[in-house]
Formats: sequence, structure tokens, C-alpha cells
Amino acid sequence: MISTAFEYARAATVDEAVALLGRDEDAKLLAGGHSLIPALRLRFSRPSLLVDIGRLDDLRFVREDGDRLAIGALTRHAELVRDPLLTQHCAVIAEAAALIGDPQVRHRGTIGGSVAHGDPASDLGTILLTLDAELVARGPGGERTIPAAEFFTGPFDTALEHQEMLTEIRVPKATGTYLKHVRRAHDWATVGVAAARVDGRMHVGLTSMGPTPLRARSVEAALADGASPADAAAHAADDTVPPTDSSASGEYRAHLARVLVRRALERL
Ligand code: FAD
Repeated sequence: MISTAFEYARAATVDEAVALLGRDEDAKLLAGGHSLIPALRLRFSRPSLLVDIGRLDDLRFVREDGDRLAIGALTRHAELVRDPLLTQHCAVIAEAAALIGDPQVRHRGTIGGSVAHGDPASDLGTILLTLDAELVARGPGGERTIPAAEFFTGPFDTALEHQEMLTEIRVPKATGTYLKHVRRAHDWATVGVAAARVDGRMHVGLTSMGPTPLRARSVEAALADGASPADAAAHAADDTVPPTDSSASGEYRAHLARVLVRRALERL
């Protein structure tokens, strides 16, 4: 299908992008286009104006920021995979980015677009939630910082206001791992599991186990009480709402979550 008609404007700065968004309540940002363009073609999304931020190259970076790392929102998945600071201090992000789609998707898709899209199957969404990341958004009133725990509000819905743009993501230095079960090569996660040690505590996150990326809080509580990885992993599907779709039944997803959480914990 072909998308509905829209106007197009290319922003040269973040402030210009925010101002352009203010022109029309149906305006949308375009970053790598690898979620938005399929949605346009299926007419799930019908913006009146596309504000292209894909050339804001000053938002493509990974920097050390004390005991955290700051990642520009326009950093592409392929850049995350090979970034030396991430590899050294937060390799779980590089590991997860390497599992996203195919090379074409990884060379166009951005971390900001990936999380702003709010897809419960997003690998990086789960990673940021697991790491207790902070997401920095710029709007007409200035900048605000949103904790990852408050960012994902529903399927394809986030805490971002209409005229806000994600500019930066801050993550702690941490060790972690990401396991992803897929039916076919380059596929979205049937289930994904992130496990990371953050400030001495074990955090566990789940992909495709509910309407948003989820934390496996029962697993975390069991580990804090001294449970073994196998015993803690038995709680992986507690408080989740795994969907049944053409990839898997909810019951199978719950089984996968328990298996992958155990493997992830044993790996760390
Ligand atoms: P866009 O498509 O440009 O935008 C997506 C949404 O985010 C739009 O609503 C846009 O307005 C908004 N947006 C973009 N940037 C910002 C910003 N800075 N601030 C505020 N809002 C913003 N993802 C996975 O996680 N795992 C996979 O296995 C996977 N496989 C894929 C396979 C294929 C074939 C395709 C096409 C995509 C796949 N993806 C996968 C999605 C991919 O990671 C996308 O690149 C990503 O979800 C969106 O990033 P983008 O930069 O392309 O954003």
C-alpha cells in the first residue's frame, strides 16, 4: 500500500524539530524510518507532516559521563554494536543491538526511534528498562529526564508528549547479557531476556511478555533473597501477560521466559 499524503520538512537542529512539531498536532518525527515507514505504508500512521531528524549527526554519539554513559538518540544500531565505550562498560547494549533485524535495519534504525516507537518487542526497550536508564527529552518548555520505568506506558505508547523529542539516553556502567529466541533468522523476539548487575543488584527484563517491556520483579526479589538461578527463574512469567500470536502461544512464551532467564542468570 502507499501512504496517505504528508508534508515533509528536514530539521537542522533539535530546536527546529521541536518547533516544526508544534506546527501541527499530527506531525511526526522521522529518524531511521524502519518502524515509521512500514506503519505509513500500512496506513497505521497518517501524519500530516514528517519532520526528518535523520541528519542531526550531533546526536550520534556514545560518551563517558562519570559513572554513566550518554548515548545520542540518533545513534544507529550498527554504531552501538561496534562502539568501544559500550563494549568496555555496557556490552549488553552492543550485544542486543547486534541481534536487531538484519544489517540494513541496523544501519538505518536508531536507539531513539526504537524506544520512542514503544514496541513491546523492542530489544533495546527491554535493555534500557533493565538498566534503569534515563531518557532525556526536549520540548518547547525545555529539557526533562524520564526514568525508563516511567517511559513505556502501553503498546506503542510512551511518556513522550507530542512536541517532545528524545535527545539522549543515559545508562549506568554495568555487566549484563541479552538472550533472544527467534523463530527465523533476523526475526523479532518471540521472547527476549536481559539480565544485568546494576549497582551490585541483579536486574532482569523481558521482551514480548506483555504490553510493554517488563521487569521480572519476582525473579529479582528471589535472587535478592539468595535463590539459585534455577529457583529464581521459575518466577520469570509471574505478573506477565504474554501474548498469543502467529509466533507463539502465551503458554509457550511463559516457558521460554523461564528457560531464558535461567540461562541468562547462569551466564553472568
Ligand atoms: P523511525 O521508524 O524513524 O521512528 C519510529 C517512531 O519513533 C516514530 O513514531 C517516530 O516519530 C519516533 N521517533 C523517532 N525518533 C525519535 C526521537 N528522537 N524522539 C522522539 N520520537 C522519535 N527492532 C528490534 O528491536 N528488534 C528487531 O529484531 C527488529 N527487527 C526489525 C526488522 C525489520 C525488517 C524492520 C523494518 C525493523 C525491525 N526492528 C527491530 C525495528 C528497528 O529497530 C527500527 O529501526 C526501530 O524500531 C525504529 O527506529 P528508527 O530510527 O527507524 O525510527
